[in-house]
Amino acid sequence: MNIKEIIKVRPDSLIGKAYKFAQKAHLNQKRKSGEPYINHPIAVADILISWDMDESTVAAGLLHDVLEDTGVKIEELKKEFGEEIAFLVDGVSKIGQIKYRGAKQQAENMRKLIFALSKDLRVVFIRLADRLHNMRTLKFLPKEKQKRIALETDEIYASIAYRLGMHNLAGELQDLAFPYIYPEEYKWLTKTVGERFEQRLSYLKKIAPILKQALLKNNINVINLDFRAKRWSSLYKKLLLHNMDIEKIYDLVALRVIVPTIKDCYAVLGIIHDLWPPLPGRIKDYIAFPKPNGYKSLHTTVFGPEDKKIEIQIRTPEMHYENEFGIAAHWIYKHKKYSNLDSHIKLEKELSWIKELSSWQEEKQKSGVSANEFLESLKIDFFKDRIFVITPKGDVIDLPADSTPVDFAYRIHSEIGDSCVGAKVNDQIVPLDYKLKSGDVVEILTQKNKKPSKDWLSFVKTSVARDHIKSALRKRGEFSKIKPTKTELKISVEDRIGLIKDISSVISRSHFNILSFHTEKTHSSRYQINRLEIDTVNLEKIKKLILKLKNIPGVKEVSYKII
Ligand code: MN
Repeated sequence: MNIKEIIKVRPDSLIGKAYKFAQKAHLNQKRKSGEPYINHPIAVADILISWDMDESTVAAGLLHDVLEDTGVKIEELKKEFGEEIAFLVDGVSKIGQIKYRGAKQQAENMRKLIFALSKDLRVVFIRLADRLHNMRTLKFLPKEKQKRIALETDEIYASIAYRLGMHNLAGELQDLAFPYIYPEEYKWLTKTVGERFEQRLSYLKKIAPILKQALLKNNINVINLDFRAKRWSSLYKKLLLHNMDIEKIYDLVALRVIVPTIKDCYAVLGIIHDLWPPLPGRIKDYIAFPKPNGYKSLHTTVFGPEDKKIEIQIRTPEMHYENEFGIAAHWIYKHKKYSNLDSHIKLEKELSWIKELSSWQEEKQKSGVSANEFLESLKIDFFKDRIFVITPKGDVIDLPADSTPVDFAYRIHSEIGDSCVGAKVNDQIVPLDYKLKSGDVVEILTQKNKKPSKDWLSFVKTSVARDHIKSALRKRGEFSKIKPTKTELKISVEDRIGLIKDISSVISRSHFNILSFHTEKTHSSRYQINRLEIDTVNLEKIKKLILKLKNIPGVKEVSYKII
């Protein structure tokens, strides 16, 4: 049922009431397209229904703009609709107020802050639905606004959707943004690739029955066999890697096979390889080793008839559903209130999926994200050990949990740290060892010629602050000189099997010993961070080693610190 139907059939339901309230609040407001404003919250609520969200979320979707755009106060929402819905609407409005300053790093901070502020994932879902509808109607906005919103969508909202595992949504947001960000490239692509795309599709349509027959002959129950077209935005990124040579892209259109069980998936892979020779190095088992965002599927590329390369993806219906809906799928399972929104049809499917997940958990994965970690991440506390605080100018600063105003001061600038005499948090004076919390607005009070105090070392949490304090103390002779003995390397990698082994063998071949090694698994970054200490302080040797490390496939960034 969509909103229009619900308010007709159940005008006194929560959704019906929310509709009436929003309708009244937005009365006489118009969208840029000229249509009544209420059409926007209705569209957002309909998107939320299509994602199987619960009734409160859908109602909050209808109300999502009343705090921002009309005279309605939060107390009024509380009175009318209760704490839960008022909280959701307030959360969506708060996210809308965070400034986006355009720089890449700021985008990263913003993503984190959105999560940190959104203690309830439903706030993020509403915001994503809001953005999706705004992107679908972006053509009505003035040109200069279009590009800014498209960029924000691409850099922030699409990547949030991606991290939540909502791949379909991420892809749609990127595709909607693409023509506004790269108008020339978009024109070129649709013209050049359009033809090529048709050729590929008709080739695959010819191949599909051959595959289907081979599967049937082997008693595989094929639930679905269809074609997945590569999205414009991801196609463009891939073309950039391949000199814009469209011949090199063989997954322009891929075949997608959906079969009932995991066992069937592997059987299908075998049957395909029996039929057509696989391209070495292109078989990807994301079932045994799911992507960090939970994506599961088998991928292979084979030489099909006429020696043409075909990419084939194999998965179960549960994987397919989860790949499309990601964390939303988990969330729906855990929170859905079945009394409303005729969506309990999917219940059985989800139950079997959860069963599969628990057996997967028992198997204990060697690599990738364990089931435990994944379920853990559903508790929404994405960034348990990070906090996100705000400068008086509105910039977001990312710090470890329990950081203090002194850590904040040194993060802003070493001089501010050195001359720090006090701090205000949310306009209140706080002691310098005050433990900051996410969302705090922090202002540092400074005094010229002030020197850092030795006591600060007992409470600061960041190494930046600690190092600066120590060196200031050393300068004043208050800190006995500690000779550095080792070097810490920080290596950001795109994880792959065997990567750690490659790193350690490069280091040992350079005749260094690894004193310590640990991997930080973060949900907040696409890359995994490895920190290791080696037993040298020789700068020249370290720099040579870093060059070698950077040559290892998968290594993205290496930095060092002598300690
Ligand atoms: Mn809106």
